[in-house]
Amino acid sequence: MGNNNIPIIYSIKTDNGRLVSCSEIHLPQAEKPLGRIHAFFEDKQNNIWIITGSGLLVKPYNQKNIELVSLALGTITGITEDMRGIIWIGTQSKGLFQLNIPKNHDFSHVHPILYASEEVLTSNHLRAICADLKGHLWIGTKEGNIIRYDILSHTFTDLSKQFTFMNESIISMLIDDFGDLWISTNKRLIEYDPVNQAMRVYTTTDGVAVSSFRGNSYYKDSSGKLYFGGNKGISAFNPSVHLSGNPTPNKVWISDIKINNQSLLVSNNNKNKLHLNGQTLNLEPSDKNIEINFSTLNYTFASKIRYAYKLEGVDNDWIYTDKNRQFATYSQLRKGSHRFHVKATDENNLWSDQVTELLIYKRPAYYETNGAYLLYVSCFLLAMFLVFRWTRNRIKLKNELRIAQIEKDKSEELTQVKLRYFTNITHDFLTPLTIVSCLIDDAEITSRGGNPQFKAMRSHIERLRRLLQQVLDFRKIESNNMKLSLSHGDIVAFIKQTCFKQFIPLMEKKEIDFRFHAEPAQIHAYFDTDKLDKILYNLLSNAEKYTPPKGQVGIELTLGKTARKDHLVIKVTDTGMGIPSEKQPHIFTRFYNNDIAFSGESNGIGLSLTKELVELHHGRIFVSSAPGKGSTFTVIIPIGKDSCGERESYPLASSIPEEKKNEPLVFNHMPDPVPEQNVENGTTILVVEDNQELLSLIANLLSAHYQIITASNGVEALSIIQTHDIDIIISDVMMPEMDGFELCITLKKNIETSHIPIILLTAKSSTEDRVECYKVGADAYISKPFQLQVLEARIQNFLTNRKNKQKEFRAAAEINISRLEYQTIDEQFLVRVVQVIEKNISDTEFDINLLANSLHISKSALYRKLKMMTGLSPVEFIRNIRLKHACQLLKNEFISIAEVTYQVGFSSPRYFATCFKNEFNMTPTEYQKILAV
Ligand code: ADP
Repeated sequence: MGNNNIPIIYSIKTDNGRLVSCSEIHLPQAEKPLGRIHAFFEDKQNNIWIITGSGLLVKPYNQKNIELVSLALGTITGITEDMRGIIWIGTQSKGLFQLNIPKNHDFSHVHPILYASEEVLTSNHLRAICADLKGHLWIGTKEGNIIRYDILSHTFTDLSKQFTFMNESIISMLIDDFGDLWISTNKRLIEYDPVNQAMRVYTTTDGVAVSSFRGNSYYKDSSGKLYFGGNKGISAFNPSVHLSGNPTPNKVWISDIKINNQSLLVSNNNKNKLHLNGQTLNLEPSDKNIEINFSTLNYTFASKIRYAYKLEGVDNDWIYTDKNRQFATYSQLRKGSHRFHVKATDENNLWSDQVTELLIYKRPAYYETNGAYLLYVSCFLLAMFLVFRWTRNRIKLKNELRIAQIEKDKSEELTQVKLRYFTNITHDFLTPLTIVSCLIDDAEITSRGGNPQFKAMRSHIERLRRLLQQVLDFRKIESNNMKLSLSHGDIVAFIKQTCFKQFIPLMEKKEIDFRFHAEPAQIHAYFDTDKLDKILYNLLSNAEKYTPPKGQVGIELTLGKTARKDHLVIKVTDTGMGIPSEKQPHIFTRFYNNDIAFSGESNGIGLSLTKELVELHHGRIFVSSAPGKGSTFTVIIPIGKDSCGERESYPLASSIPEEKKNEPLVFNHMPDPVPEQNVENGTTILVVEDNQELLSLIANLLSAHYQIITASNGVEALSIIQTHDIDIIISDVMMPEMDGFELCITLKKNIETSHIPIILLTAKSSTEDRVECYKVGADAYISKPFQLQVLEARIQNFLTNRKNKQKEFRAAAEINISRLEYQTIDEQFLVRVVQVIEKNISDTEFDINLLANSLHISKSALYRKLKMMTGLSPVEFIRNIRLKHACQLLKNEFISIAEVTYQVGFSSPRYFATCFKNEFNMTPTEYQKILAV
């Protein structure tokens, strides 16, 4: 070995006995150190390849120089030549290279080409390569893989599976003259016949001296003998006997079977399970872990024999073992028959044709028997059937419910339509009823009264009205529109009045003894007058209806006190026919009637409505009755202030404007006649009503005393009001185009018409309707059907009241606008008029023109409005205000009349005195004197 890492070769003795050179040969200079020489290889053309630590060199045949072929291959681990003369080089980390030998032995331009790497070889770490004469290249890797490359068909075949037992790196490979492949690993040498995969393994136990083989340390001499070098020298092999041949028959025996770790050979319990003759094994369901031991009973080559076994249905393929493992284990075998196969190799690794079979039968557990499966299937089918039936029933039920709901909705809709129709028709009944009532009035007036039939007619009209009202209430309760509206006062007096007014005549007619008793005689209560009236009416009319002549009817009022609330207990008793106890629970149901008697007069609404009304009033109603003896209906209602609860903030009667509180709002009773001379002639009344018959009837009757203008709806009325001076408007509520409420709102919003009093004619009579009328600004309302006298009296009252108030205002020495009792908008108007006049009081020139200008209103409108509100023309009104001021000034006894005259805007004291006298019936001087006294 020379310096600079350039080895010096002194001589090379080749295989064919040639000595290449005896002289010193220097390896060529290279860019990097070439390293130690690892191996020599002579190809068929007698070129000698030299492998150093990092380079590949060649000494071409018949040349003395050594040429560097490549430095790029890293560590070269193997070199060989195939039958075509191509050089193959295996490297430690770069894969497989190919190199073609140039014909002219000029290696200067020859470079190895990378032929295959990791992708096809599964490793770049090649350890050994060799070529056989059949066109195969054999490659061994560090990982122990053996790959065969078919040079002609260019296919790589990984044969590693056949050498799995080895599990060691390949160190070197050689092909002997029979074509067998010799592979050395660290500890063993394997002879392999590629034709039939027979193999034989040699280790120290077989007399091999070397126990650890070395790389590049192998050789085949010309006689075909093989040498492998290692730690203890060289082992030589003479492959005189070709490995190939037929496998030696090698039968495998089942040597033992262990069930749950207990051998069948020793355990008495399990002995019957194995029948060696028939090679069958019968297992119980509880036999879980099975171990089958097998052996060839060949102990000569025991270590070279391999086994393979397979259990049909469990193992997909043969499972290979070696001598270390001569058993197969199975746990949790399924029930039924299984066929177990086992076979073995001969000492040359050739699989014997004799396959030993064992039939294993495992009895099914009780839950795996056919009976059990039948039971499972039956249960499953039953469950499916039940689920199906349940689902079907549910769907059916759902559909039925849906249909029922649809039917209910439909019938509800139909009921609503019917009820709506019924309500509308009831409304329509009221107008003809009003006409009849008016006609009776008319007839009574013409016949100068006295005919008792009129009274009877009226009572029947009242009864008809009540019945119609019941229908309307019914609808109201249905639609949740019925609200409580409390008033306060003496409830005993109220009930007494209702009884006496409405029932005494009826009772007297039937000679019924009617008794009224109240304890205490006065009870202050909060209650809904309208609802209570209806409750009493129903109970008393039933009592009267179902009690025979000369019977007894009584009403008893007592005060019930509990810790939280005061209650009024109303008991209505009769000595009538009574109600059988089985029917009592039904009498409060809608449309129920006891079909024993009176069926013609009975409609079954009365008590159900009564119950609803009592409950609306937060009370209770119940009955106690004995057939033939009589009945007692007891109503208990709370009468405290908070009896309707906090949630229900219905308008109380007290929400009616203060000034209206004491005023009788409904005049269905005959008011005191008003002296005719009080009414000023020339009063114009506008009657607005869509029913032509009623319109002409009212117009006809009223035209005797008033000038009448008619309109059939609100729109028409509005246009009439613009061109006529109207003193009072009487209007129906329900009308086409514009109803009474809208008309009322429109008129009361307009300053030019806001002062005209409006009386609404409505079909509704409950308190909330009354409140509604006031809300829209009506001055009064009269419920249908009404008596004509009531209407007339109302008109007369209005006119007289207004006249009186106007007179009082005119004659008063002070200006008191509120005395005229107008609604806010009109009162404000008058206050503004007075303010304007007062501002200009000393101005003699101040007249209607200036006043109208200051108020931004037309002269005619000012005239009409002032005249109607005060009974004075604007000129008279200005004068009246001047004179009222004069009165105030005259309180000062030292002021002169002349001074007052000019201060209040009169041009001469004489004219002032005349006017003063006209207004106050005394001269200014007399007035001053009276004050002075
Ligand atoms: P109707 O309009 O038929 O009187 P109600 O609802 O007022 O309807 O009464 C229902 C039923 O209760 C009546 O048909 C009747 O049989 C029974 N009833 C009601 N009040 C009395 C009473 N004071 N005496 C006997 N039966 C009564």
